[in-house]
Amino acid sequence: MIKRVVADEVLQKLKLMLVASQKIVITCHVSPDGDAVGSSLCLMHVLRKWGKQANVITPDMLPPSLTFLPGVRDIVVYTRQELMAKHLVNEADLIVCLDFNAPYRVDRFAPVLTSAKAKKVLIDHHLEPENFTDLQISFPEMSSTCELLYHVIYFMGMKRYMSRWSATCLYTGMMTDTGNFTYNSNNPDLYVIISELLKWGIDKEHIYNVVMNTNSANRLRLLGYALSEKMELFPEVGGALITLGHEELIKYSYQRGDTENLVNRPLTIPGIYWSIFLRDDQEYIKVSTRSVGDLAVNEWCEKYFNGGGHKNAAGGEFRGSLEECKSIVYEIVESLKKENKNE
Ligand code: 5GP
Ligand code: MN
Repeated sequence: MIKRVVADEVLQKLKLMLVASQKIVITCHVSPDGDAVGSSLCLMHVLRKWGKQANVITPDMLPPSLTFLPGVRDIVVYTRQELMAKHLVNEADLIVCLDFNAPYRVDRFAPVLTSAKAKKVLIDHHLEPENFTDLQISFPEMSSTCELLYHVIYFMGMKRYMSRWSATCLYTGMMTDTGNFTYNSNNPDLYVIISELLKWGIDKEHIYNVVMNTNSANRLRLLGYALSEKMELFPEVGGALITLGHEELIKYSYQRGDTENLVNRPLTIPGIYWSIFLRDDQEYIKVSTRSVGDLAVNEWCEKYFNGGGHKNAAGGEFRGSLEECKSIVYEIVESLKKENKNE
């Protein structure tokens, strides 16, 4: 039995909203990851089993590593099927927002979401959620939205609507948001949940291999190149920086998801406790930051990179050139050096 975290009255409110709704849209953040897609598809399966018309809209395309998830063919991708997505939103009684904390995180889908007449619910684990929904279930201490969603389903008494499909989706998000249960994963209840999911027949070895242990040849070469040629270390301040320009991405036939986890690699070097990865996506510079320990990289992302996130894993979108973005990182390095001297 897992510990109750979400207040009963909140779950009662959610249950009433679900009971009152027939057409339900589920959505998640742009560049959806395992937790975003996993939680969305899990809830879709659960609600469909309950007899609801549930549909998932993602703001943009999924990475290929997630296309094995059950139900993925039913996903409406906003950038590809805008009219269909708008139709579903117009018809919806309820919209469930999963794994994001503010409308801008759904990118171009944001105006459609915010102007929808349907009631809205947020179920999320990011810090400082904005108040844009009728009901907010926000628990930043949860390691993933999938973990939180399990609590919601379990304590709403909806476990009977779970299945192997929904359990597979849920496990995927719990696994990806904890780096296969390496970080943010000391809560014993996490393993109680996994043991429940295993009873629904999930194949955790298969899920791990498809999502986290499969590479194209190009991806392996890109990662090798990035680490051997493009990693700068700042040992005096325990930092690392990797950058990939647009030409370099083209050279290695970059596919969405190829640089996933790259930012974490420098942290495996003893003495390196923060890492930044910059990728030139042309529209903007995608910034990924990670740290171990007390250093709050989300503060850097908020201050310099138009983003945010968690203390040890954050990101942003920098509007400017790769060189400009790099100089900001060098400034951070210089200020850390100064801080060291003053201590
Ligand atoms: P990643 O580096 O894997 O893209 O993102 C790590 C975490 O940083 C995400 O889970 C999310 O919380 C946060 N994050 C990434 N990109 C952005 C962004 O553009 N804006 C904000 N607010 N958070 C972001
Ligand atoms: Mn998440």
